[in-house]
Amino acid sequence: MATKYYSTNNNTPLVSFKEALIQGLAPDKGLFMPVEIPTLSLKEISAMKKKEYWEIAFIIAKKFLQDEVPEEELERICKEAYDFDVPLEKIFERKYLMRLDRGPTASFKDFAARMMSRLMQFFLKQEGKSLTILTATSGDTGSAVANAFFGLNNIKIVVLFPKDEVSDRQRKQMTTLGKNITTIAVDGKFDDCQNLVKQAFVDKKLAKLNLSSANSINFGRLLPQTVYYFYAYAKLFERQGEKAVFSVPSGNFGDICGGLIAKEMGLPVKKFIIATNENDEFPRFLNTGKYEKLTPSRKCLSNAMNVGHPSNLTRLIALYDGQMDETGKIVKMPDMKKMKQEIFSVSVKDKETRQTIRKAYDEYKIVLEPHGAVGWFALQHAPEKITSGLCISLETAHPAKFPETIMQVIGIKPNLPKNLEGLEKKREQFEEIANDYAEFKQLLLKK
Ligand SMILES: *Cc1c(COP(=O)(O)O)cnc(C)c1O
Repeated sequence: MATKYYSTNNNTPLVSFKEALIQGLAPDKGLFMPVEIPTLSLKEISAMKKKEYWEIAFIIAKKFLQDEVPEEELERICKEAYDFDVPLEKIFERKYLMRLDRGPTASFKDFAARMMSRLMQFFLKQEGKSLTILTATSGDTGSAVANAFFGLNNIKIVVLFPKDEVSDRQRKQMTTLGKNITTIAVDGKFDDCQNLVKQAFVDKKLAKLNLSSANSINFGRLLPQTVYYFYAYAKLFERQGEKAVFSVPSGNFGDICGGLIAKEMGLPVKKFIIATNENDEFPRFLNTGKYEKLTPSRKCLSNAMNVGHPSNLTRLIALYDGQMDETGKIVKMPDMKKMKQEIFSVSVKDKETRQTIRKAYDEYKIVLEPHGAVGWFALQHAPEKITSGLCISLETAHPAKFPETIMQVIGIKPNLPKNLEGLEKKREQFEEIANDYAEFKQLLLKK
């Protein structure tokens, strides 16, 4: 039996994966989580060593979706979604960098968006329905989602981004598409965009638009984000059952939740390192047990992680038997002791991010961009007893997405991946609004 999904606010009946995917946010404003997380044996995980990325995605997706999507369909979806490389670069000894930047928009968001768009299309066809997807972006979700859903006739995409906090290249990746993609520049921060989107979801007057979400509040994003943890482990383990450390540059905590779910599924993990930029609400919480959102969020070089209250913290807390409501209030304390055993967390300053980019280049000739540098810094500054064995640091974007920073710090111009070529010349088209729900709502109704 395929697992059912509950809402973290505990006030919604259980739903199937299809319903969780199509609804995005639960009606009680909670986030959907699997009631039971399927598991893989060590033998199944070890057998992934010889498999391709898309085959590993298929094995994992099947565990969640076996009763909901026919096997041949799921196999086709995985094969189509993952037709690019996932390089594992050795930095030194058993310290590796996993580059999740070879998808069409050159950030790790492609991994989730490409599978999610195909699953949504499959289910919508089955139901003969159409949808409008609202998505708030701090830079990379918008372009990955826009690219993954571009040209589909039963799905409209509306992307909100903070006017002054995305790079030119990030913006152009979403504003130059047109067709079923509408982009809106909000005079505010990412958290403001996210709040506008959340308000729209629970607005009864908008129900006829059939709104859904492609942000990591959607469980459909998390399932594909468990896969690369298995992939990296399977390719790099030397002893079956050996435990690995993952360092994850984090903003809205969708990526790390993918990792934590992978661990629940049986992946041997010694520790997760949650690396944040100066938006340090989580490392402070882990230290003190008191949670305080940061408003407004702090503007850092790693702009996709400028999040003052990570949506998926609610899921992380649920994984440790606690409960957090949609306002960020802790209703039930999680098991802090277990959390501290399994997670180490560091906040990294912009100055340290720059130093890390320089040092990685000087010492290892490795080019990092700001997000990956935050992860690599945290790994290097974790206690030796954590990092003595196999460690994998996630690089979540391509350096060419941040050419100004890279040029300034190491004086080189990162090679542009083919997918990003020619953007400069394309025509941009986007709406501009104040950080104002009434204005946003009017625009939605007009579109
Ligand atoms: C979105 C993003 C992150 C943060 O991922 P979360 O799942 O939001 O924690 C890190 N790096 C890059 C490049 C991103 O686009």
